[in-house]
Amino acid sequence: MALSGCEHRERPNVLVITIDTLRADRLGCYGFGLAHTPATDRLAEEGVRCTDVASSAPITLPAHCSIMTGLYPPAHGVRDNGNYALGPEAVTLAERLRGAGYHTGAFVSAGVLTRRYGLDQGFDTYDDDLWSEDDPPLFMIRERPAPRTADRVLAWLDAWKQGSRPPFFLWVHFFDPHQPYLLRSSDLAALAPTPYDAEIAEADRGVGRIVEWLRQEGVLDRTLVVLTADHGESLDEHGEPTHGVFIYDATIQVPLVWRLPAVFAANTTYRGPVRHVDIMPTVLGVLGLAGGDATQGTNLLAALQGRTAPPDLVQYSEARLAEEGFGMAPLFGVRHDGRKWIAAPRPELYDLRRDPRELANLYSADAAAARPLEEDLAAVSADSARRALTAPTRQIDRETEEMLRALGYLAPPEQRAEMAGRDPKDGMALYKQLQEARQLVQVDRLDQAQAVLGELIAAAPENVTARNLLAYVAVKRGDLDEAERQYRASLAQQPHQHRIHGALGTLAMRRGDLDEAARRFHRALELAPSDVDAMSNLGFIDAVRGDDAGAQAWYERAVAIDPIYPHVHRRLADLFYDRKDYTRALEYYRRVLAVLPEYFEVLIQAGNSARFMGDVPTATAYYEQAGRVRADSWIPPYNLACLRAMNGAPEAALALLGEAAERGLASRELLDQNDDLDTVRALAGWPALVERVQTAAARASTAEKGGS
Ligand SMILES: [Zn+2]
Repeated sequence: MALSGCEHRERPNVLVITIDTLRADRLGCYGFGLAHTPATDRLAEEGVRCTDVASSAPITLPAHCSIMTGLYPPAHGVRDNGNYALGPEAVTLAERLRGAGYHTGAFVSAGVLTRRYGLDQGFDTYDDDLWSEDDPPLFMIRERPAPRTADRVLAWLDAWKQGSRPPFFLWVHFFDPHQPYLLRSSDLAALAPTPYDAEIAEADRGVGRIVEWLRQEGVLDRTLVVLTADHGESLDEHGEPTHGVFIYDATIQVPLVWRLPAVFAANTTYRGPVRHVDIMPTVLGVLGLAGGDATQGTNLLAALQGRTAPPDLVQYSEARLAEEGFGMAPLFGVRHDGRKWIAAPRPELYDLRRDPRELANLYSADAAAARPLEEDLAAVSADSARRALTAPTRQIDRETEEMLRALGYLAPPEQRAEMAGRDPKDGMALYKQLQEARQLVQVDRLDQAQAVLGELIAAAPENVTARNLLAYVAVKRGDLDEAERQYRASLAQQPHQHRIHGALGTLAMRRGDLDEAARRFHRALELAPSDVDAMSNLGFIDAVRGDDAGAQAWYERAVAIDPIYPHVHRRLADLFYDRKDYTRALEYYRRVLAVLPEYFEVLIQAGNSARFMGDVPTATAYYEQAGRVRADSWIPPYNLACLRAMNGAPEAALALLGEAAERGLASRELLDQNDDLDTVRALAGWPALVERVQTAAARASTAEKGGS
């Protein structure tokens, strides 16, 4: 025991950094002269830089699962974002390291990696609380920018430093280079040649803060640093705007840097083939820990040190977004010995040495040359099938809805069979049309979006993703009948879309047809038993019908599945509020505010709850906070005025009512008919206030007439 304890103390820390959507060739250390990536470049200078690294899938969750399990997607079972979760039977790097005494922490920056997708296995801390971040643009993934992720990481490291300092395993994921390319740091925006490069620079700055902290604390040289990316970005190569559909090198080639001075010589370049699946066995190899053999990867320690020749490895990649999202054929490929083979309805073969941009498909001229690669692919597939984890979990829940909205609808098996012949190369035009329509919806150009979707559906009537988006456009236009027609047409084509049943349920609620709404939400739940939105809506329907106990049961079921989903807490809080159980209402409003501290309506409700409980200071604090969040609303000063009036301060109340009038209070009734204000009505300043409010009311009414 003493010996193993000693070993623990001597084992280095491990820091794995994954930068989302980072092409290797956009980093300075990979030869991009316009890059602003000093932190990553310095890591490469001080360690080993691998130049031929392949992602196992050009999509975030499957690729990260490969990095963290050493298994290819067909073996770990996670084939797409959103609809899959890593099963508990998977053995992750974090589990191995925690088992070896490591203190483990992960900080992820995108909704696609939250704990429900299973990568939290083995982590003592898994920071995926993204609800506190800004709402993402429509159809985009909820994310946290690098500066805030780095802040949280540094706080965790500070806490580690204060403690007994066991070796740590820290995984940090930065999401910035993923679209949309939002320019947060203006200096980087000015320095970088494109918005994409500015986002890379932002992530690199986050890397720098963490690495420099370790350096200053004297622990960097006792920390194995591994930096890589989940996949690259096409940037319109081969007609693909971003990533996920194709498996050309633009999205498959990723950076990989190793730094640990005692083990790796500085300023070293490793040119042998490397895969995501080699990372875990190599980390375990460096640490002298067992478990690497259980992966599909190879421990490259000796080769990276130059003690042995680089092993001859087959690099496997797959892309199933076109299949999962649009019912087209999936793509499977291997890179081996300077060639790439892509199994597709129209197969592709490239000579990567002569044609690194994969522009000349050699397959039709020399199909025989593809045969060894076909065998390589078959061998990987057979090995994956043999190792496949049993029954990968398919998660469908509210977060999944976001994912489906962000990435496209999961095509059902029947439709997949119909479309199996469509090569993603031929479908890219449709995919781009769909993207265009989404962008038009984002900027509220609904007529144009509708026209684009109409064309798309004419060309590909089976594309329910387009039809669902058309229905969504109809909802935004307020044409609920048309929305209903499109959703029903979509369901006629594919009856198993739980989220479309949910959408029809919401439309039925808006018409006041609660029976139909309940029927739809129950159907959604049959199809997706953890659909928390359906539960929340069923609770709401029960509440409207006066069945409070039923409503509470639904809300509690939803909260049990998704403990930080703030909107369910809000409904639960409203339920208690309506029952005049203000103590419990306030308890649940507080839970919402813990996640969304600037939620105006909830601040008001929390203030009201406290007020009815007689807790004036708390009510005041919530109203004042609401007033800061929405400086243009008359509601906070009006509510504060009522509070003051009831507590013997009519003059203060009058001043606050003046402020409310300033902010647009234009209702005589709210002044005349509120008993709380009785003491204020006796004041000399009252008539002037009434005058102001009446004038404002007249103005508002004129403006309304003018506008209509
Ligand atoms: Zn990604």
